[in-house]
Amino acid sequence: MLETLHRIVKEVNTAPDLEQALETIVTEVKGATGSDVCSVYLTDFERREHVLMATEGLHQGAVGKVRLPYHRGLIGLVCERAEPVNLADAPSHSRYLFTHETGETQYKGFLGVPIIQNRKVLGVLVVRQHIQRSFEDEEVTFLFTLAAQLAGAITHAQATGSLVTHSDLAPPNRFLQGRPGSPGVSLGTAVVVYPPADLDAVPDRPSKDPDREEEEFRTAVAAVVQDLMAIEDRFEETLPAEDRALFDAWLMMLGSDSLIGSTVRRIHEGNWASGALRETIEEHAKVFDAMEDIYLRERASDVRDLGRRILMHLQQRVARPTDYPEKTVLVGDEVSAMQLAEVPHGRLVGVVSARGASFSHVAILARAMNVPAVMGLSDLPVNRVDGRFVILEGYLGRLYVSPAPSVIKEYQRLANEDQALFRELEADRDLPCETTDGARVPLYMNTGLITELGSQGSEESEGVGLYRTELPFMVRDSFPGESVQVANYQRVLSAFHPRPVTIRTLDIGGDKPLPYFPVEESNPFLGWRGIRISLDHPEIFLTQVRAMLRAAIGLDNLRILLPMVSHVQEVDDSLLLIQRAHDELIEEGYAVTMPKIGVMIEVPAAVYQVDALARRIDFVSVGTNDLTQYLLAVDRNNAHVADIYDDLHPAVLRALIQIVTGAREYQREVSVCGEMAGNPAAAVLLIGMGVDSLSMNGGSLLRVKWVLRSVSRARARELLQAALRCEKVSEVKLLLGNTLEEMGLGGLLRAGR
Ligand code: PEP
Ligand code: MG
Repeated sequence: MLETLHRIVKEVNTAPDLEQALETIVTEVKGATGSDVCSVYLTDFERREHVLMATEGLHQGAVGKVRLPYHRGLIGLVCERAEPVNLADAPSHSRYLFTHETGETQYKGFLGVPIIQNRKVLGVLVVRQHIQRSFEDEEVTFLFTLAAQLAGAITHAQATGSLVTHSDLAPPNRFLQGRPGSPGVSLGTAVVVYPPADLDAVPDRPSKDPDREEEEFRTAVAAVVQDLMAIEDRFEETLPAEDRALFDAWLMMLGSDSLIGSTVRRIHEGNWASGALRETIEEHAKVFDAMEDIYLRERASDVRDLGRRILMHLQQRVARPTDYPEKTVLVGDEVSAMQLAEVPHGRLVGVVSARGASFSHVAILARAMNVPAVMGLSDLPVNRVDGRFVILEGYLGRLYVSPAPSVIKEYQRLANEDQALFRELEADRDLPCETTDGARVPLYMNTGLITELGSQGSEESEGVGLYRTELPFMVRDSFPGESVQVANYQRVLSAFHPRPVTIRTLDIGGDKPLPYFPVEESNPFLGWRGIRISLDHPEIFLTQVRAMLRAAIGLDNLRILLPMVSHVQEVDDSLLLIQRAHDELIEEGYAVTMPKIGVMIEVPAAVYQVDALARRIDFVSVGTNDLTQYLLAVDRNNAHVADIYDDLHPAVLRALIQIVTGAREYQREVSVCGEMAGNPAAAVLLIGMGVDSLSMNGGSLLRVKWVLRSVSRARARELLQAALRCEKVSEVKLLLGNTLEEMGLGGLLRAGR
């Protein structure tokens, strides 16, 4: 049975459209169960009916015609109960409904199982039998298991088909639902981007002249370096000089021994250049693929993208320049940061990626560039939307393809209002962030990922509240030495000088192993990460701290932040090592000074001991991304549980209050640097709690400033009290939404003014 099940699911998954997917299901299931009839009904949610969509055994003429209203018949019963209904003699059941189109009176045995996705009943899979009999347990579980696996395939096929037929099940005012990537509304023309050359399809081939192959390979790499530098030049006017981390990372990969050296070695071992390149890229990308951390896993697509670009030059198929319309909405199965960077300045109005989530590189980049984005639209038939007019709603994660004129009119109105709102935000650019009763709230920037590209924050932020140091460790073949790190840190410290820059020590771990430092763990998020690794390897920690202290000489705007602290002893040990690095440098003649040192509050243990931690250090910074994950026991990167990961959970709010209270005992400054700080509504709650400063991605600064300049501390405290009376996330969200609407600031959270 298991084999049959796998085969059916596979066939359905590869069906070109809904009709064929359903045909496959009814034919195969009828055969596998030996029943006389198999049918599928799908729910038309707008018309509140269950529609017969496919059958094997009943009259084909009934398909599409038989429509059973909600709560009618046995099909309605299966949907209401959301569990199987197994009847030996269906016609004698009180809910039995005779439909003459199907001529079904002669069937007695009935087994209907619901097709459910995300708690929603999408339809019913039914088998019928002439004779009077109940279906066996084994048959019920077979159908049940099959239906559970078919739900995803059905929604996918439904979405694919809908763009072709505009069938009743998906009229043109229906949207495809993804995940919010970056807020805003866009109307534009879809430009589908796809990998420029198919690396996977390259075969192995013996190289006749390895030296020539090597030369061709090196020429192709040089050509890609040229291409990237040309793109980077295009960003010269719009990008501050220090914001080139993304290009640096790509160029560094192109110069790395693991990419160049390994390919050359393979060429000399006998493979031709293209085959050797394919092997190297796959090996390299797999290391990143295996990482739990979404930020870092994204590097796999960068590696593959670079590989394809080299291949394209090897094959001398120079890319035909893409035509980018005035209002380009970039659409792809997996849009890469490079593809985004290639769109001429001013033409990109939206980004849609079938894969990825809110934490993906492209989403972070879109937020930093203030371009609306929708992520994770797994049902999007990417290859059918090129050139179509689309509407993107980034607040709720919706996409309309070839929408009806009435939908266009409405969204054009909302987009105009959004633009008016943005102009209002811009007007506050040079004003300080202070509440209406005059309390200053410094807004800092998070940086160090690739978020800098085109970001607006570096000018108006009051410094860097979180500089993540992992990236330079990721894109190399070995740990970076002290002088390389000094140069890295100096760049950010001097770019923001005299504003403070908080640099976090390495937050790497089992979930994001370095390619040259593999760690295998069954529970990586509870494993060897952050400060735990730094303390177990003091040589890594000391090198990093020495580099930070040296980089700050003459600038004195460094603050050091320790991640993933769960024991007070870890802070004591870290402080000793930092002091040691300082003393050694003084002995060596460097004029270093001791920076302020802070602790990240990211695990529940640190919440309960925040006073003991605060006593030892200068400031605390709350990492709400991890704190939410550990408080709620929800993996922050797992799409299956993404709906229950929420930093507005009442438990998170209570933990935050406890952190502020504990830190206050020693008059320590409290900052929040998780994504929560960049949510304009959540920011009001944080101020109500007494949080001193907020650190966020550059794209959120003006939104947060706008809302904080509209509230008083008293109002923020009142709102916090009301939020604390809520028992559910949904209630907190409703409260915040309503409050912002009352204040005339609802446009920050949804489309329109
Ligand atoms: C956090 O956990 O909130 C945080 C800011 O750190 P990161 O997202 O890098 O884990
Ligand atoms: Mg964290």
